[in-house]
Amino acid sequence: MKDDAYWIRDQVKAHNKWFEESIPTIASENVMSPLAKEMMISDFHDRYAEGMPGKRYYQGNIYVDKVENKCMELGQKLFGCSFVDVRPTSGTVANMAVLFALCEPGDTITTTALANGAHISTAQFGAVGLRGVKTINYPWDQEKMTIDVDGARKLLLESRPKVAQFGLSLFLFPVPLKELRPTFDEIGCTVWYDAAHVLGLIAGGQFQDPLHEGVHVVSSSTHKTFPGPNHGILLGNNLTDDLEKRLRRAVFPGVTSSHHLHSMAGLAITMAEMEEFGKTYAAQIVRNSQALGQALHELGMDVLCPNLGFTKSHTIAVNVSKVGGGDQVAKDLEAANIITNKNMLPGDESSIRPSGIRIGTQEMTRIGMKESEMKEVARLIHKVAVKKEKPEDVKQEVKELKKHFITVQYCYGAGAPAYKYHDLI
Ligand SMILES: *Cc1c(COP(=O)(O)O)cnc(C)c1O
Repeated sequence: MKDDAYWIRDQVKAHNKWFEESIPTIASENVMSPLAKEMMISDFHDRYAEGMPGKRYYQGNIYVDKVENKCMELGQKLFGCSFVDVRPTSGTVANMAVLFALCEPGDTITTTALANGAHISTAQFGAVGLRGVKTINYPWDQEKMTIDVDGARKLLLESRPKVAQFGLSLFLFPVPLKELRPTFDEIGCTVWYDAAHVLGLIAGGQFQDPLHEGVHVVSSSTHKTFPGPNHGILLGNNLTDDLEKRLRRAVFPGVTSSHHLHSMAGLAITMAEMEEFGKTYAAQIVRNSQALGQALHELGMDVLCPNLGFTKSHTIAVNVSKVGGGDQVAKDLEAANIITNKNMLPGDESSIRPSGIRIGTQEMTRIGMKESEMKEVARLIHKVAVKKEKPEDVKQEVKELKKHFITVQYCYGAGAPAYKYHDLI
C-alpha cells in the first residue's frame, strides 16, 4: 500500500545519502556517468527486444536496434575484437552463456580455486556446477598471487581440457597468458577469460590485453572497473562461425529473453566515454591502488605482495588476521562509513571468517580521488582496523573528507552528482 511504497523509497533515499557520505572501496562497484544513468530511467527500460537487431520477435525496436548496433560497433573498436554480444544481463549470465556454448555436461575445464580469488560462478555450487561441468584448479604461486606457470603448463598437458578458464574476483596481477600460449596451442583448447573485475583497465590499456594474448572468448560484467550499468558482455576474436553462432544462441534463447535495453543503452554510452577518458581514468586507478597499498604498508599493515608493488590493478588485499580478521574489520570499517568486504586469502578455508579484506580504488578514482587522498584513506582505515579507535569518531573524519568527492569524473558532464536520488514525483 501507499505507506509501504513510500517507506521503501525513503530507504533507498537514505542509502543514497549514506553512500554520499561514505568512502566506497568495494572492488566490484562503481558509479555511472550522468548520461549513462539517464538511460536507466528511459522508456528503453519498459520495452522488450529478443534476438538480434533487424531480426526481432517484437515490433517497436527501431531505435533499440540502432542503439544496439552502435553498442556492438563501439565494443569492437574499444576492445579491438571482431565478436561482441551486448545482451548478457550480468557477468554471471555471460558466464552461463559461455558454459552453454563451449561445454557439455560431464566435461572438465581448468579454473582457479575460490580461495585463490576465483568467482563463485566458476565453483561447483555456481554456474559451472549447474552446467554439470567439472573443474581442475591451476596450482597457485602465493608469493606472486598468480597462477604458477610451470605447474599450470603441466596440468594443461596432463588434463587436456576442452576449455582453459581464467579471471578472478581478487585480481591483483595479470594472468600469465603469453607464457601459457604455446601450451594452449599445443593442446588446442579454447581459452576463456572472465574480465569482470578488470574490463575498465583493459579498455584503458592499463592491464593485459587478453583478446590479443591468445584468448578466444572474454566474458564480463560492465559495472566494476568498467564504469557502466549493471550488465554483461561477451567479446571474441578469431572465432569460427560455428562458435559465434553457438555463443549467440546460448545468450538468446539460452540464458536471456529480453536483455535490459536501458542497461544496453547505458553500456553503449559508457563505451563511447571510455574511448575518450578510459586511458587517463584507468591509469589513475592503478596509481591510486599502488599508493594506497604503499601507505597502508608504511603504517605497518600486512598488504599482500609488497615486493611486487602490491598490485597492477584496481585491487589490493590486506591480511587483517592479526587485528581481528576480515569479518570484524569489515564491519568496523562500515560503522566508520568506509565500505569494504572481507575476503578469502590463499590458505583460508572459511569464506565466513576469512583473514583478509579486499580494497578497490576504481570508485574512489571515479569521484576524483588521487594519490594524496589515498594516504588519507589509509590513515582512516588504520585508525579503525589497527588502532581500534571508535568507528563513530572516525566516521566524522570520513564524512569531512568525502564532502569534496561527491561528483563523477572521466565522463561527459563530469562534475555531476554521483550519488543523487532522481525524484520523479
Ligand atoms: C563479479 C564477477 C562476476 C559476476 O558478475 P555479475 O555481473 O555480478 O553477475 C563474474 N566473474 C567474476 C570474476 C566476477 O568478479
